[in-house]
Amino acid sequence: MNTQEFLINSNLPTPCYIIDENALINNCKILKNVQDDTGCKILLAQKAFSNFDVYDVISPYLAGTEASGLYEARLGAEHMPNKECHVFCAAYKDDEFDEILKYADHIVFNSPNQLKKYGPKAKTYGKSIGLRINPECSTQKGHEIYDPCAPKSRLGTTLSMWNEMMSDDLIEMLDGLHFHTLCEQNSDALSITLKSVEEKFGKYLHKMKWLNMGGGHHITRADYDIALLKECIKNVQDKYNLEIYLEPGEAIALNAGYLLTSVLDIIHNNMDIAILDMSAACHTPDVIEMPYKPPLYNFCEPNEKKYTYRFSGPTCLSGDIIGDYSTNEPLKIGNKIIFEDMAIYSMCKNNTFNGMPLPSIYFLRTDNSIELLAKFGYEDFKCRLGKTTVS
Ligand SMILES: *Cc1c(COP(=O)(O)O)cnc(C)c1O
Repeated sequence: MNTQEFLINSNLPTPCYIIDENALINNCKILKNVQDDTGCKILLAQKAFSNFDVYDVISPYLAGTEASGLYEARLGAEHMPNKECHVFCAAYKDDEFDEILKYADHIVFNSPNQLKKYGPKAKTYGKSIGLRINPECSTQKGHEIYDPCAPKSRLGTTLSMWNEMMSDDLIEMLDGLHFHTLCEQNSDALSITLKSVEEKFGKYLHKMKWLNMGGGHHITRADYDIALLKECIKNVQDKYNLEIYLEPGEAIALNAGYLLTSVLDIIHNNMDIAILDMSAACHTPDVIEMPYKPPLYNFCEPNEKKYTYRFSGPTCLSGDIIGDYSTNEPLKIGNKIIFEDMAIYSMCKNNTFNGMPLPSIYFLRTDNSIELLAKFGYEDFKCRLGKTTVS
């Protein structure tokens, strides 16, 4: 029996997420190999996956964590202790920065203004500091909200802004540069981006200790060209004598999670529509935001097989639709189905819109035992909306 069948036949209450330890370890081994072969360091971008209960499992393969701000930095410092803790934020706040200094060892600024404002203090506290650059090299099409190099992007310092605002003492303060421009891309896009980075910022790279190449590298995807990634890393590493960091989120937990859900009802309005006990808007928000259609175990594209269904959530949002899929067996109320690749950008993005409960989170261990990591209730819905009495 494969993992999907095993989970469908388990008596786990639905809806629930299941994180797959085997799959996580397999991804991490690939990432470890990249580090061993090149000498680069790989960090977990917690924005994509921050189930801290499983950090113990992935930590031996990684150099540390990357955070988008105070809370993620604290999470990384607390749950992956004795590892590096990097933070990048588009703009830091006075009332948060001192606390960030407690957790992070590498602090990346988005603009010369921010570097000028917070850099000296970070230096005093012995931090390694960097500036995010924008090489203005778009390698993705049609996904502007995922393209930090899209026109008028606020993310990263462009060369013209650098030329205008970076004084010698600001440049002097920097230990490293950071760029993050990719999203679910292969190493050919990295190679193109690096050309741009070198053309525009090459002369400054010689002065740096490290270069962080951000995330969006789909390293653990089957068709990813790892040899080219290694070549890219080694080239810049040797040419500029730099420590290289990568901070993928997706690649670490790619295809390492499931969302198990039950069919609550099937109705007919020009097509068969199944209502599930999970919601796209609440539990797989990227399905609507990205947008994309998640793999559904044992189902194909619509009309490829005999019965086509639209799967939707129980909320009152008309657009709470996961997608259309087909199968050879007619679906029945009460059936369980399982969505794949549900570890990333899911649990960390969940919300309780419509009063939807948060799905429980389980961990499927390598010995096939299943551990409950988190269970949620009414309080988790209520506490975000107002005064809750602490009992
Ligand atoms: C989103 C993000 C990442 C991780 O991206 P993935 O696509 O999940 O690999 C890394 N670094 C920064 C700065 C990011 O914004």
